[in-house]
Amino acid sequence: MRHLRYRLGAALLLLPCIAGARAPAISIVIDDLGDRLAESRAAAELPGPVACAMLPESPYTPQIAALAQARGKEVMLHLPLQPGQGRGHPLTILDTASPEQRHALLQRALAAVPQAVGVNNHQGSRLTSESEPMRWLMQALREHGGLYFIDSRTSAATQAEAEAWQRDLPTTRRQVFLDNSRSPAAIQGEWQRLLALARKNGTALAIGHPYPETLALLQREIPRLQAQGIRLIAPSQLIREQGTSRQQRVAAAPLRLAAVMAEPAVETAQVSEPAAVEPVAAAAEPAGTPAP
Ligand SMILES: [Zn+2]
Repeated sequence: MRHLRYRLGAALLLLPCIAGARAPAISIVIDDLGDRLAESRAAAELPGPVACAMLPESPYTPQIAALAQARGKEVMLHLPLQPGQGRGHPLTILDTASPEQRHALLQRALAAVPQAVGVNNHQGSRLTSESEPMRWLMQALREHGGLYFIDSRTSAATQAEAEAWQRDLPTTRRQVFLDNSRSPAAIQGEWQRLLALARKNGTALAIGHPYPETLALLQREIPRLQAQGIRLIAPSQLIREQGTSRQQRVAAAPLRLAAVMAEPAVETAQVSEPAAVEPVAAAAEPAGTPAP
């Protein structure tokens, strides 16, 4: 019996090698950037390929987006979508907008962050839970070309990721909000949860905000990742690694994204669908103001 248990344990240890698995990987997106200079700049200067999601038409968005790009980070558009209550950001797309209005708002937001290779939703509890606007949005992003979409999952009822899949838009979801609670202990706890998810599923993605507490944790912990056997990779790479069918979608995606994602297609299929273990508690929406 003991012998059998040993053999079983050895086989389980070997499993990742047999599957050609790479080390567990995380991606980190810092969003709500562009309103405050010092915090936004600190985010753009974090070590490693942390993605920077910029609010459209915020005072420091052009400057911070350029800095992030110069530091080798993926720049994203942090697209304001209708929150559960109120109007949110001035460029928020509401479900009462006419097709012409929402088209104009989206084009304006995209034009405000020309470096963007990806999009995630700012707020959006209301709009992401509605199928028709999400179908429209993902189709529009697909037509724009060269973008991926990360569902921030501000609501457990979100349809965004599902509609992105339907439209063949490279997509993934946030699994951890690092700083829904800003206490250092809580942020540390979410960080550990992120690493545990990556070890369990192969990949995991977190969203954080440019709070001093969050930035301090990332400045301290990112340099320690390699020693812990965890890779920090850009979201485009995370999406590519999350499965064969996604890789095919990415291969079919046009230009700008293809340039970002270009890499020899020798990946072994490591189909770990992002865990179905979405904590519904994560439905909290960062408070109703556009500023961090
Ligand atoms: Zn936001």
